[in-house]
Amino acid sequence: MNYFPLFLNLHDQNCLVVGGGDVAARKIRLLAAAGGKMTVVAPALCEELAQAVLDGKLIHLAASFNESQLQNTRLVIAATNSEEVNRQVFEACEARGILVNAVDDPASCRFITPAIVDRSPLMIAISTSGGVPVLARNLRAQLEALIPHAYGDLAKMAADFRDEVKSKLLTVGTRKQFWEQTLAGPIPDMVFAGQYEAARQALRESLSADTDAPRQGAVYLVGCGPGNPDLLTFRALRLMQQADVVLYDNLVSAPILDMVRRDAERVYVGKKSNNHAVPQEEINKLLVRYAQKGQKVLRLKGGDPFIFGRGGEEIEELAEAGVAFEVVPGITSAAGASCYAGIPLTHRDYAQSVTFVTGHRRDGEVELDWPRLVSPTETVVVYMGVAQVGKICAQLIKHGRNPATPAAMVEKATLSKQRVVVGTLSDLAQKVVDLGIKPPALIIIGEVVCLHEKLKWLAD
Ligand code: SAH
Repeated sequence: MNYFPLFLNLHDQNCLVVGGGDVAARKIRLLAAAGGKMTVVAPALCEELAQAVLDGKLIHLAASFNESQLQNTRLVIAATNSEEVNRQVFEACEARGILVNAVDDPASCRFITPAIVDRSPLMIAISTSGGVPVLARNLRAQLEALIPHAYGDLAKMAADFRDEVKSKLLTVGTRKQFWEQTLAGPIPDMVFAGQYEAARQALRESLSADTDAPRQGAVYLVGCGPGNPDLLTFRALRLMQQADVVLYDNLVSAPILDMVRRDAERVYVGKKSNNHAVPQEEINKLLVRYAQKGQKVLRLKGGDPFIFGRGGEEIEELAEAGVAFEVVPGITSAAGASCYAGIPLTHRDYAQSVTFVTGHRRDGEVELDWPRLVSPTETVVVYMGVAQVGKICAQLIKHGRNPATPAAMVEKATLSKQRVVVGTLSDLAQKVVDLGIKPPALIIIGEVVCLHEKLKWLAD
């Protein structure tokens, strides 16, 4: 171990920063956030520091560094652009036993500063012992994405309950078990969703409840976007890494499924080889059953769960059964296809509104409110419309939309095999057949489609 890691209480401690530029300002910001009483030594200050002096947050000694400035100082940072001055500061501090760091100059450091993930009071510090700071920063970026923003609030709440837990649960073992169970249950998610009072109440209840009471399950209805894993939300990713059971169907791509926790049980509820999907009622029941067993159940949905996803039906049943649930939005495939095909769905010159409709048939017919879809300034996006594309285009023409209106089909949007076919209302259907386009694909209809040629950034 090259360095000993520690967290320093700097409240009301005198800290001195030598140097008045941007690097100094960055260090001063951090030290001040930790409660340090800040003094800066520099002949001149950058704008931010000059303002901090005016605001009374910073004392400025308009001078060059000299040892007399170190009196009563706990910690010093040398942030000048002169190695020689940094060395001088380092040696003066060493002689007095003061903690000292020279920015980017390990030879003049008694301590070094880590990359941090700040979820105060929870704090993660990462260091490569000064070797490869970029590596520490990369790791930090990964952790930032992985750790919910409100993790600190959870830590704070747990700390608030510490004494109460200690007085109720007398051994270290029972306390550990209590926290393990509590943190694996629904309470953290309540905190992450900003429901602080409900979380506190639930914590109070579980503290007074029988410790052998069954663990409570919950269902997370999670939209995972149009298929490209980069388009997942942080929330979706975190839940995928905590789930006990995952229910998924055809629209959830293999690379996304790969990101689910390895030992989670995977349940496929999509279309089987006989082309029959698991009936919706059965999926609803499965969700309830797993949650009632105390499992953390993830229901992964393509795109957004509330856009043609039957998400509403699934959670209705959960609500009736009294199962806790949460719904996580995803990028709907219309948004994914639009961006990845370079076809904006609205545009000041071409379309003032956009309507999402389904091409799914009921009793053999596509039933849409056709007269509402024929305005020349309206973009129409059709989900589940591959098989019916001919009928849909014909109906629009029949109800008055210009047959020359541009129309596109986007197959496997956002995935590496994405294909875009562009035509008009009169010839799109034939092109789709000629090219053998298959679901999942979306139809985009409207003048905006003409922008594709100019705005596409992927090959068709
Ligand atoms: N909830 C989903 C839609 C489910 S309906 C969402 O918000 O996107 C299923 C239809 O979505 C498919 O028939 C297809 O029209 C569309 N779809 C889903 N993923 C797609 C993709 N990657 N590319 C094109 N269309 C897609």
